[in-house]
Amino acid sequence: MKRKAKLIGVVAVVAFIAAASYMLGVYSEQTGTSVSLIQEAQAKPDNVDGVNVPSGRIPQEIKNNKYPHTYYPNTEKIGKEEMRITACGTGMPIQTPSNAAACFLVELGNGESFLFDLGIGSSDRLSGLELDYSKLDKVFATHLHTDHIGDVAALWVGGWIGGRHTPLHVYGPSGARPELGTKAHIDHIRAAWQWDVFARAGVLPNAGGEIVAHEFDFSKTAVIYNENGVKITSFPAIHIMDGAVSFRLDWKGLSFVFGGDSAPNKWFLKEAKGADVVVHECFFSPEQWMRIAGFPYKQAYWVTSVIHTPAQGFGKIMSAVKPRLAVAYHYWNHRDIEMDMHQAIRETYDGPLVMAADLTVINLTKDHIEVREVTYNEEAWAQGTSREWDTAPRGKPATGIMSDWLKKGTVKEMIIPPTQPIK
Ligand SMILES: [Zn+2]
Ligand SMILES: [Zn+2]
Repeated sequence: MKRKAKLIGVVAVVAFIAAASYMLGVYSEQTGTSVSLIQEAQAKPDNVDGVNVPSGRIPQEIKNNKYPHTYYPNTEKIGKEEMRITACGTGMPIQTPSNAAACFLVELGNGESFLFDLGIGSSDRLSGLELDYSKLDKVFATHLHTDHIGDVAALWVGGWIGGRHTPLHVYGPSGARPELGTKAHIDHIRAAWQWDVFARAGVLPNAGGEIVAHEFDFSKTAVIYNENGVKITSFPAIHIMDGAVSFRLDWKGLSFVFGGDSAPNKWFLKEAKGADVVVHECFFSPEQWMRIAGFPYKQAYWVTSVIHTPAQGFGKIMSAVKPRLAVAYHYWNHRDIEMDMHQAIRETYDGPLVMAADLTVINLTKDHIEVREVTYNEEAWAQGTSREWDTAPRGKPATGIMSDWLKKGTVKEMIIPPTQPIK
């Protein structure tokens, strides 16, 4: 009996403390005067090796290639000589919930990040990785189809709000005419979103609202980026018209080749030869495309086999270049078609292969390749802005561009008053 009374006493005390804490918490939130709320707003992400990670989530070092079976964002440090490649979009121009359009993120052990393509929907996948948006400032576009660059405005503005305080740089090919090149594309994106960008002036850092196009000659095999030991080479691809390319990234003896849309071509065979991780499109067959999209055979053949590379062609390319790891993408990983795609590749290629889905992640070092899937929080938060973002220069607020009659329509009594001093 005595023991039971003691237990009841302990439970009562615990319940009282819990209830009191809960009520105090509610009270604080209602008044908005809580010190903890102010501290929360002022708290900034932790900085680990130059990368901002959500506060309180310090990534761990991976030793002896003993990776966890699943990759959880911001839980693992990238080794100094390691590359982490994440598929953030592996699909098509027609949307499906399972596959966002083309996007591969490459993160290096030196703290730098590079985006290869940024197709529609891929910025949603990126958000799940809870990345440091101040690092996501370089996009390399293989060509100007929506399924390869359609989310550039989303990253431009979303990344700006999410912590980027410097311009977004977009590297992309020239076209047959100036209006078909990357510079014209970005100039029009900038112009099209003037209302959005103006509206954010004064609140967000000026420089983060800039988007800069770096257009290069699509027809040349040339190094188009060469900084901090990271070399990115562009080479021509064969895709409908002039103005499509593929890329190769070299860093510390590791190589990543990213094929944009293309028929099999001699430049890819040369540049991808013997590379570490080689990503290439793997399109449906004409028969599959007739079934999926309802195209007549003639059009289905043109789409799948003339301007793209279907699975058997993908296999032939990989058999020729013999990478340490071949990566297929640009189809849907739907269950009723995935096995057919795999079998078609295996008719012409028997080497190391990954059928990439959205959020397939590949860790690459000189002696090891680890392939896993990402598990992320569907309700992931942005990691928050940094001190650099807070203090970066701002311009005049956009509220100056509102008519007086419109301002006078404000119902002042319904505006919630500030609870902190506003300078
Ligand atoms: Zn495409
Ligand atoms: Zn395309």
